[in-house]
Amino acid sequence: LISRKWRVEPTRIDLGDGVMVGEGSFSIMAGPCSIESESQIESVVAHLKENNVKIMRGGVFKPRSSPYAFRGMGMDGLKMFHRICRENGIKVITEVMQVSQIEEMIDYVDVFQVGARNSQNFNLLDSLGEAQKPVLLKRGISGTLEELLQAAEYIFSHGNEKIMLCERGIRSYEGAYRNVLDLNAVPVLKEKTHLPVIVDPSHGIGLRDYVESMSLAAVMAGADGIIYETHQTPEKAFSDAQQTVNFQESAKMIQRMRQTYELR
Ligand code: PEP
Ligand code: MN
Repeated sequence: LISRKWRVEPTRIDLGDGVMVGEGSFSIMAGPCSIESESQIESVVAHLKENNVKIMRGGVFKPRSSPYAFRGMGMDGLKMFHRICRENGIKVITEVMQVSQIEEMIDYVDVFQVGARNSQNFNLLDSLGEAQKPVLLKRGISGTLEELLQAAEYIFSHGNEKIMLCERGIRSYEGAYRNVLDLNAVPVLKEKTHLPVIVDPSHGIGLRDYVESMSLAAVMAGADGIIYETHQTPEKAFSDAQQTVNFQESAKMIQRMRQTYELR
């Protein structure tokens, strides 16, 4: 069902209020790795509004490598995140980690993110297929494109066609950066499927100095959108500080990504 052979027309996803994702629109989704406080959300929202960005990312349930690391603000954080975004005309994307969270989260999100570690959590995918809310599905940490497409098929086959695929880097032997952002995936996925393809350069390379170059490369490779991490004071971010850009860098990136998209 997710194949171009089954549907030639590119899928476009309507998030409401004129915010579209998919071919014909270039989507920017930006925000902190984790939601931390009301003032943090307000500062990001102000930055996004200044730059006409309509979708804010931010995790409230965080998958962390260590169980002792910050695990997120949970539902209280999500309600605050959603309220401030609604007041400012911004859409919310946040990660859902398990089936039992879908129901409590659904009224407070515009897009459910499925993280790399849950890319093949088939029960979660089944349930999101029934949820009728857009889903951004990340590629697994060592996932193949076929596995990503099959994961999307789980969601689609339950009746939810509002799926975006996300390349976020795959694990390799290289230690100079966090992951290898596989930009080969972009044109290949675009040919294989009608679903929008989004690239996450922040997790893809994991080092803030290179996030801009990789985002521009992703745009030229044909990505329908970019999702990345930004924070007022990246060094103080509760998670993924090393790959988070500040607002000045973010503003420059937004401008250059839009210029690059125009060149395509
Ligand atoms: C995130 O978006 O902060 C995140 C945890 O991403 P991933 O699942 O790609 O590691
Ligand atoms: Mn992160």
